[in-house]
Amino acid sequence: MLFGLALLLAGLGSARAMDPYPLAPGQSAIPLGAHLQFRADAQAADGATEAFARARAGEFAPVPDGNPTFGFQDGAYWFYLPVLNQHPDELHWLLVQEYALSDQVDLYVRYPDGRVEHQASGDHQPFTNRFIRYRHPNFRIDLPLGQTVEVLVRVQSESSMQVPLVLYTPRALTEIMRDTQFSTGLYYGIVLALLFYNLVLWIMLRDPGYGWYLLHTGAFGLVLFTLNGYGFEYFWPNWPWLADAAVPLSICLALIGMQQFSRSFLELRDRWPAGNLASLALIGLFALLGIASTWLPYSTATPLASRMVLLGVIWIIIAAVVMLRRGYKPARLFLLAWSFFLLGTAAFTLLAFGMLPSNFWTQNGVQIGSALEMLLLSLALGSRYAGLRNENIRIVQQTNEQLERSVIDRTKQLRTAMAQLGEANVQLREFSRRDPLTGVYNRRHFRETLEQALDARSGDGRPLALLLLDLDHFKRINDRYGHLAGDDCLNFAAHGMEEVVVPRGGMVARFGGEEFVAVLPGADAQEALRIAEAVRARIEQSPVASCGHSIRLSASIGVHSVAGGQQATPEDVIRIADEALYRAKDDGRNCVRHSVSVA
Ligand code: GH3
Ligand code: MG
Ligand code: MG
Repeated sequence: MLFGLALLLAGLGSARAMDPYPLAPGQSAIPLGAHLQFRADAQAADGATEAFARARAGEFAPVPDGNPTFGFQDGAYWFYLPVLNQHPDELHWLLVQEYALSDQVDLYVRYPDGRVEHQASGDHQPFTNRFIRYRHPNFRIDLPLGQTVEVLVRVQSESSMQVPLVLYTPRALTEIMRDTQFSTGLYYGIVLALLFYNLVLWIMLRDPGYGWYLLHTGAFGLVLFTLNGYGFEYFWPNWPWLADAAVPLSICLALIGMQQFSRSFLELRDRWPAGNLASLALIGLFALLGIASTWLPYSTATPLASRMVLLGVIWIIIAAVVMLRRGYKPARLFLLAWSFFLLGTAAFTLLAFGMLPSNFWTQNGVQIGSALEMLLLSLALGSRYAGLRNENIRIVQQTNEQLERSVIDRTKQLRTAMAQLGEANVQLREFSRRDPLTGVYNRRHFRETLEQALDARSGDGRPLALLLLDLDHFKRINDRYGHLAGDDCLNFAAHGMEEVVVPRGGMVARFGGEEFVAVLPGADAQEALRIAEAVRARIEQSPVASCGHSIRLSASIGVHSVAGGQQATPEDVIRIADEALYRAKDDGRNCVRHSVSVA
């Protein structure tokens, strides 16, 4: 036990040149982390010769926990491993630095004959310098069978010092590349499809929500594209300086897009002004950071921007929960979408801390989470749009119903008004036919009735009679009892005449002054005389009670009757009746006289 400990201490104290790592038949993809030795060269002072010498002199140390990840570091890091190829079929190998963002990666390979081969890669070299056109820096290494070859890698970068070197046979790398290309193609295919789909919706619907979704999704897709090394490969292969700035810049752009999209989707300006202000403040902060990241060192800008992602997502989730509690329904799907994003990112982070096992789901957590998030956000936009449209339809329907109701109301009011107007018209016409003092018909209506009756008579051949009545000595009555009593007498005479004439199918009118006239269609001379006599008797019989007096009245009546088939004008009929009336007056008044023409 003690002996073992002593051996261990001796081993640590005086490092010695390493044994070569044997590449045995059957091996095809070897992560080198656990086998490497490393040395930090803070001043970046050494060249390859010094580094080889130091490695051989045992100045290199094993990589802690076999994980060559050191965070942001100044200067250069050297990694050393002698390998012995025992694989008769595989003499050409590929060394891949599986982290896309390292600035400068140099490979030195030293053969037993002392020959040293140098290759350079990393995103400070033009993309075309790479051995294989691939998103990760890679090198070709010839490993002759049974010979020990020393592999030395130097990395210097403003990005995080991560050096997951893997040695592949060409066939193994081809297979791995095929699998990853398939899943990344799937991911960016989803992103592109969502982008185009929502672009079309944006153009068609003009809803600004879709525009902000495009910014958010496009910028987030660009972040992953850049982090995975595709940005350098496809977008800016000849501008290595952009490779550094692109990471924090695209993160800031994605942060702005994500906040602006959420602000617009949750309608914070109208629904939660305080939350809206907080969102705007965050957007301002992200914009400042974006501008600053063009001159801040990469090692400051990128970790700062990465931390802001967490801040941004947490704020969005808080805002969504607040809006949900305020009863804003579209926030439900929105919240679910961002939860997927958080879950995926959390899975990836926990994997990095070794708290979750490494598998397909945890390794691709960010991609799966963000793809689900983008998909659900697009759905949320659609359902929100549908909600708005339904609300619009409901409002239009409601307005239509109200309009219909008010049209019905107005029509009803109009009908009532028309009916009232009609009634008023009828009344007005009736008034225009009546004598205002006695209420019997006036002379104009009498004239019309007489004309019509004469016309009708010429058709049916029936007789017609006319009564012309004049109150006797009416001037005296006025003089003795006053005009008001005179009026009462006129009323009495008019209604007395009506009571006798109307039941017999005749009509009574005031002819003027104290003269009244009756038209009796169908009445021959005898009947006309009978009726006239009844009228005269009716007026004579009852005295009129007025102004405290009992006034006796009498009337003289002239009758003219026209036999069936006989022609007559209204003037003739009136004139002849008038003559008869004069005779009644001449004969002493209070009597009935018939015209001479009576047969
Ligand atoms: P006679 O028997 O010859 O018909 O005598 P009289 O007095 O009735 O004849 P006259 O035609 O000279 O008089 C008619 C009077 O009727 C004159 C006028 O004062 C009166 N009179 C006419 N219209 C009205 C009226 O509307 N009201 C009142 N109170 N009197 C009226
Ligand atoms: Mg008179
Ligand atoms: Mg008179």
